[in-house]
Amino acid sequence: MHKIIYPGSFDPATNGHLNVIQRASKMFDQVEIVISSNPQKKVLFTAEERLSMMLEMVADLKNVHVHTWPGLVVDFARKSGIRTILRGVRALVDFEYEFELYMMNHALNPDIETIFIPTDQKYFVLRSSGIKEVVLFGGDVSDMVPPVVVEALKKKLANAESPLA
Ligand code: ADP
Repeated sequence: MHKIIYPGSFDPATNGHLNVIQRASKMFDQVEIVISSNPQKKVLFTAEERLSMMLEMVADLKNVHVHTWPGLVVDFARKSGIRTILRGVRALVDFEYEFELYMMNHALNPDIETIFIPTDQKYFVLRSSGIKEVVLFGGDVSDMVPPVVVEALKKKLANAESPLA
């Protein structure tokens, strides 16, 4: 049984994330999405909101499960007995950060491996921070994020004073 962990902030999840998840669900027997809930990190959506959006997004993928996790991904891996982490990479700048993260995780637990999947070219420019900015300035993101996220963004940013501050 090949199981993999796909961790991230998913604040919010984009069509790029969903594409990675759909491809992973075909390559692996089981995909565990781990939504980080680090209270130190400034996020727009609470961990519960991100969880509920993600659950809706992957409802039709039977071998994909979603969790929130307050700690280190390597600790989730240890607890769940899964040894492989999946990360998506877009451009070269992603690679540098991802490589550092891999080395950190590997130092914390050498039994855990990370594998990288390149983004589909359609989603090359999608990043969560950019999406939030576009919505804040009234742009249309319906081609960039799933419908559940479009709605949540509208609600969240409609009345907030400085939501991205
Ligand atoms: P983190 O804060 O952990 O980087 P993100 O939610 O930003 O979490 O991203 C989670 C993972 O998905 C990362 O590996 C990131 O590189 C990848 N990712 C983000 N956007 C895309 C995209 N458009 N296509 C493919 N992978 C992506």
